[in-house]
Amino acid sequence: MMDDVVEQKQCFCCLKSLELDATSNDLTSIGMLDDGLIFRATGNFGSTVFDPPGYEVLEMYVCDKCVIARADLITYMKQKPNAALYRGVWVLEDGSRV
Ligand SMILES: [Zn+2]
Repeated sequence: MMDDVVEQKQCFCCLKSLELDATSNDLTSIGMLDDGLIFRATGNFGSTVFDPPGYEVLEMYVCDKCVIARADLITYMKQKPNAALYRGVWVLEDGSRV
């Protein structure tokens, strides 16, 4: 049984301290961040800073407050099996649009 591993991280935008449950030691499993979201980038061909040839990722953390504050800059995407990709407005759980 693995012991819980909690790492202190910081919000990419406001630098607020955030706790990450980083117990998993596997890139296919994402940790759990309190009061925030985890974003991973695998790189892309157009980037001049991160385009790795293998399975490597960059990970960053954004607190919920900053996500909401900049929600107008976020693209929401959803896809069901055998359906077209929806890309558009993000509707929050309370029904409000951002
Ligand atoms: Zn923040």
